[in-house]
Amino acid sequence: MDVSVPPQPVPDADTQGFWEATAAGELAICRCKECRLWMQPPLEHCRLCGEATEFEAVSGDGTICSFTVIHHPAVPGYLEDLPYVVAMVELVEQEGLLLPTRLLDGKPGETRIGQQVKLEITELPGGNYRVPTFRTVRPAD
Ligand SMILES: [Zn+2]
Repeated sequence: MDVSVPPQPVPDADTQGFWEATAAGELAICRCKECRLWMQPPLEHCRLCGEATEFEAVSGDGTICSFTVIHHPAVPGYLEDLPYVVAMVELVEQEGLLLPTRLLDGKPGETRIGQQVKLEITELPGGNYRVPTFRTVRPAD
């Protein structure tokens, strides 16, 4: 494995819609067709009402809920970006709807819980898939 190159995702039945949307430049999250609950990670059936789910595009607006600074790479790629910030972003669509993501402009010591962030889809080398990443709307004071 070339550790300098991030891997392409390997979608399964539950995540196919997610990765197809990001490849098309959108962030889509699993949502119940019946009670409209958003679910991340995606599920085939709603965890509340048991009905079928579908993927629906979201705004891409969110808030940093928690974060960690990566000093030693846990996944291949982004070596030139070390140290970088991986954040749990709470999407505005629903309280507690969390997406783990790389923060493109996240700097150790400057990233804050509660910062507003905005989706920015990032290209991946070696294939058609892309990943949802985020950037702070306004840098920390
Ligand atoms: Zn439901």
